[in-house]
Amino acid sequence: MEWTGLNELREKYLSFFESKGHLRLGSFPLVPKNDNSLLLINSGMAPMKKWFLGQEEPPCHRVTTCQKCIRTPDIERVGITARHGTYFEMLGNFSFQDYFKDEVIPWAWEFLTEVLEIPADLLYISVYEEDDEAWDIWTKKIGIAEDHMVRFGKEDNFWEHGSGPCGPCSEIYFDRGPEHGCGKPGCKVGCDCDRYMEVWNLVFSQFDSDGKGHYERLARPNIDTGMGLERLACVMQGVGNLFEVDTVRAILNHVEKISGKTYGKDDKTDISIRVVTDHIRSTVFMVSDGILPSNEGRGYVLRRLLRRAARHGRMLGINRPFLTELVETVIHENKAGYPELEEHADYIKKVIATEEERFYKTIDQGMNILSGLIENVKKAAEAGKEAILSGIDAFKLNDTFGFPLDLTKEIAAEEGIKVDEENFKAEMKKQKDKARQDRLSRDISGWAEDLFADLDAAATRFTGYDTLEDKGVLMAISDGEELLDAVSTDEGEKEGVLVVLDQTPFYAESGGQVADTGTIVTADGARLEVKDVKKTPKGYFVHTCTLLEGTAKVSDSVIAHVSKSRRNAIARNHTSAHLLQKALREVLGSHVHQAGSYEDDERVRFDFTHFSAVTPEELALVEQIVNDKIFEALDVTIQNLPIAEAKKMGAMALFGEKYGDVVRVVDVEGWSTEFCGGTHVKNTAQLGCFKILSESSVAAGIRRIEATTGFGVLRLLDERSEMLDKVSSYLKVNNMKDLPLRAASLVAENKSLAKELEREKAAAAASKIDGLFESAADVNGIKIINAYFSGTAPEALRSMSEKVRDKAPNVVSALVGSNEGKITLVVACGKGALDAGLKAGVLVKKIAAIAGGNGGGKPDLAMAGLKDETKIDEALNAVAGIVKEALEG
Ligand code: ATP
Ligand code: MG
Repeated sequence: MEWTGLNELREKYLSFFESKGHLRLGSFPLVPKNDNSLLLINSGMAPMKKWFLGQEEPPCHRVTTCQKCIRTPDIERVGITARHGTYFEMLGNFSFQDYFKDEVIPWAWEFLTEVLEIPADLLYISVYEEDDEAWDIWTKKIGIAEDHMVRFGKEDNFWEHGSGPCGPCSEIYFDRGPEHGCGKPGCKVGCDCDRYMEVWNLVFSQFDSDGKGHYERLARPNIDTGMGLERLACVMQGVGNLFEVDTVRAILNHVEKISGKTYGKDDKTDISIRVVTDHIRSTVFMVSDGILPSNEGRGYVLRRLLRRAARHGRMLGINRPFLTELVETVIHENKAGYPELEEHADYIKKVIATEEERFYKTIDQGMNILSGLIENVKKAAEAGKEAILSGIDAFKLNDTFGFPLDLTKEIAAEEGIKVDEENFKAEMKKQKDKARQDRLSRDISGWAEDLFADLDAAATRFTGYDTLEDKGVLMAISDGEELLDAVSTDEGEKEGVLVVLDQTPFYAESGGQVADTGTIVTADGARLEVKDVKKTPKGYFVHTCTLLEGTAKVSDSVIAHVSKSRRNAIARNHTSAHLLQKALREVLGSHVHQAGSYEDDERVRFDFTHFSAVTPEELALVEQIVNDKIFEALDVTIQNLPIAEAKKMGAMALFGEKYGDVVRVVDVEGWSTEFCGGTHVKNTAQLGCFKILSESSVAAGIRRIEATTGFGVLRLLDERSEMLDKVSSYLKVNNMKDLPLRAASLVAENKSLAKELEREKAAAAASKIDGLFESAADVNGIKIINAYFSGTAPEALRSMSEKVRDKAPNVVSALVGSNEGKITLVVACGKGALDAGLKAGVLVKKIAAIAGGNGGGKPDLAMAGLKDETKIDEALNAVAGIVKEALEG
């Protein structure tokens, strides 16, 4: 066999199976679509379940793929075994009720021994103990010697997952030689050491299981195979483990370079290098597929992997955020197979940088606290107590310092300490319950659910997509406290009346779109004004109304009438959100995904994933594109479609949103296709016009645009022109066009006036100072200047004192000022006074003491606060004496 690169191996495999009539498909995203049973795709067959189960028709009955996989259950083995990564690629060929064992076994053998020329005697085969059929094909048809064959039980060689299709499997192992083995006497195929490495698993799904031990043989069975690409490369490149395979090694080398550590010298270092190498691969692919770090679900997996990588980086002595630097190498090594990585490069870097920086901010504090806790546990253990870290402590570390439980567990385990997980979970639950309680108390639908719990009626039918006025029957009515038979206005208008109808044209708040408003009138003439509509989990539309007149009763026939102008305004804003999303993707890139939205009759608020502020130029372009689409008058069509068909149309779904089998698809002719339950205009021209009001940040990696359409734009114009009118009249401008010039000249004028004022003030101060010199006393050749300026702030007083000081050398000045109830004394000494041995800092204390104050400062300038206003004159009069004393004493 010949050394073959990982990218080349992938290509060889896929084209080999193409030559056997298979359709080659690209890897599916890591996030499973419409499958709640799985957090992340972990095998080639996982995204194809519906084709295996016959719930959906595959595009071809023979398919081959190379699938990105994440396996978090293997996380503890990463870096320790030679063959496990949390991220790897799985090669696979699949038969949906087409070929079976007779074809797949020879093909697998042909690929390994003829295409790749792996020596046959290094390959070992396992089959399920009862699968004689497979045994015979391997031994008789292929001619494998029995000493290279093993039979395994259900645990190892039977693929089963609850009820449904299942069956035996057959694995192909590569013997890497005794030097990779554990050396134990019983070491053979199936041993958990790294000598016999499983490379390929062929699954024969030939039964339908009822989940209770009964297996029905399928008339038309399936084939599903999986071969780890990195493991195969390991064999073909003759390297020690997954991390030394060409494309992965490049990343490992980069980790070596950043850490300054050499790989292959000691086990602990090697493990950390491999962990970082593996985790940066997984996380780059996860972020590229739209996963963001969070505390739940796949976001948690991502966060855990990133934080674990950061921590192992520290163990390697890297004391700064570094993961972003590795992203480039991961992308470079993988872009051949996954070109989207390059497209998302900036986004991936930003997500990872943000998460790593966040973690860095708290990791030191957290680590210190954890080490302290561990020390305490150790001491307690020495005293005979159990070596366990309390659940509350672990929870606090998680809550305050972002230490995922698993990280705390790992660090504790390194010291032989366990973590009380049960109490951790209890704490976590307490917090969640509280959050839910808070949410419930804010959410009327939860409360209305209780109120209408006993109502025995079918869910409300919503007719408002097609009509704004409809007949209906009043099924239930309540004053908000309890269900009633009737509510009347005997005591006047009644607010907070809740009404459920059998069918309604009123849209209930959902998907970011606000509820409709309008009126409900009963056959007896009772009139209700609808203020809000919410949908309960059971499907009742609860109209919150004010009863204006009459008596509304259960079983009344009613006419429900939605406010048309408001509904139209909401629809305009909602359609604009679709135009906006597409325009943002065009201008900023395909990493843009909706992260929340809100539409009412005045504006649209659209949150999306993006990592920097949108520039004014980008915003202008986005706005222009949306307006282009409005002026092109594109038809908006709405269809209810099976989900598969909708996807084929390329409909955009919300990340992480669950959808039923039939979805509503809103299509703007030639521009955008989205899953959406909202109400829309029929043609984009109805929007009139679109204007962005603001762009801002809502959270790390999430931006928000607020915009408006139609009348909203007109209102904006009105508001602005009203404002301009006002400004024009203040500035006495007749023609609005002259406003900018007038404003600019006013500002300039104001500036020159301010300068002039400054000059005047300075001149006034100078003449005051001159006056002071004229009346100054003389003590041994030093002029004594003292004066009181009421209404003068300390700063002005200080600058006057500086001027006096600098005007003549032989001078001591003591100026008092008062302002806002504070009295300040500033003493200054000119150069000659200083030479004569005077110090302002000393003088100020003596003078201030007379008026009950204290202060200090430098020899040439010092300040003090005075307390007694009545003593100011006395203090000033004492200055000459104090100076004389100082000079002579
Ligand atoms: P093992 O027992 O070695 O963990 P497995 O039984 O979990 O393997 P399968 O679920 O049969 O493996 O997956 C099919 C193929 O995917 C395996 O034969 C192997 O080549 C590859 N594979 C499985 N897990 C990993 C992993 N964590 N890292 C890399 N490759 C893997
Ligand atoms: Mg496994």
